[in-house]
Amino acid sequence: MEHLVRSCYKKKSGYVFARKAEDIAREYGIDRIARLASNENPEPLSPAALEAAETALKSVNRYPDEKVNVLMNALRAHYGDYHFVTGVGMDGVIETIIRTLVEPGEQVAISTPTFSFYALAAMGQGAGLVTIPREPDFSVDTKKLVKAAKTAKVTILCSPNNPTGNATPIDAVVEILEGIEGLLFLDNAYVEFSGIDYLPLMKKHENLVLGRTFSKVYSLAGLRIGYAFTPRWLPPWYQRSGTPFTVNAVSMAAAAAALPDTAHAERYIAQVKRWRKRFAADVKFPVLPSDANFVMVDVTPHTSDEMVEELARHGVVVRSCRSFSGLPDHFIRVSVGEDWENELFVKVINSL
Ligand SMILES: *Cc1c(COP(=O)(O)O)cnc(C)c1O
Repeated sequence: MEHLVRSCYKKKSGYVFARKAEDIAREYGIDRIARLASNENPEPLSPAALEAAETALKSVNRYPDEKVNVLMNALRAHYGDYHFVTGVGMDGVIETIIRTLVEPGEQVAISTPTFSFYALAAMGQGAGLVTIPREPDFSVDTKKLVKAAKTAKVTILCSPNNPTGNATPIDAVVEILEGIEGLLFLDNAYVEFSGIDYLPLMKKHENLVLGRTFSKVYSLAGLRIGYAFTPRWLPPWYQRSGTPFTVNAVSMAAAAAALPDTAHAERYIAQVKRWRKRFAADVKFPVLPSDANFVMVDVTPHTSDEMVEELARHGVVVRSCRSFSGLPDHFIRVSVGEDWENELFVKVINSL
């Protein structure tokens, strides 16, 4: 019966996941694996979030609040009077925004190499994809981007960018916002680790959405919850096109309680800032400058997959960048983990 499946899914491969620590542990008989492949905060969730989640769990016989009020209120208390949408991870938010705005055949523009889900989400909606390659140093040529993305319904820019780690400066983002006719979705999954604040742009630009997630600095990746700052006009239409009751009661309670625990977030942000410097100083291969909680390492003359395999053999899981289209095949992406994990990575890679 597979003839029923849409041809786009038969032509293109799906999302590429990092290798599982459990599989590597079994394969090589190692019991302690350094998990540096998925940019997660290695610290468990905030105790306040855990308590809120446990309380919410007791009422899951009822449907959750479709307005997600507990989280909306927490977001306004934390950031001020903005407009928000929420979803099943930021991935869910991206998918719903494309569904809300893009007719089949209309264009989604992306700046590559970047996070692969944008292209998959666009394809799922039957959108045409416009890809604008970054410069050799992975910065964005705004003139080139504006020209190519001018009439796209949605342009998606990741800043700080996954996997390259660099952020796009505010003035470049303004140039894009003023040059394009559609909406700019600025993926800020890693913005907490950068020194850049794009929020002031929300007051001036009707075509800007800032995507955020609880999966990284807030230690809630397993609860699948994301949100976005949006212009005023977007939320009612987003709700109309979205899946009913998308955000579950446990996730929204945990996220709302995690936001005010700034000490939890600050601990990991400090750890990231320390280790970005140490990676750059101590790793014998070139480490690209990063504004995120990971660094990209140029492992020439090895290939990405060779290096990932070799590190795995020594109990260190990192991400091969081979699946990021538009990137040469000699980069790996390494998250900042706990001290022992980062130290093990440095020791192993320097010994190869
Ligand atoms: C991790 C990540 C996200 C967020 O994913 P969730 O669906 O919220 O877990 C979004 N964009 C990028 C670039 C990411 O790396």
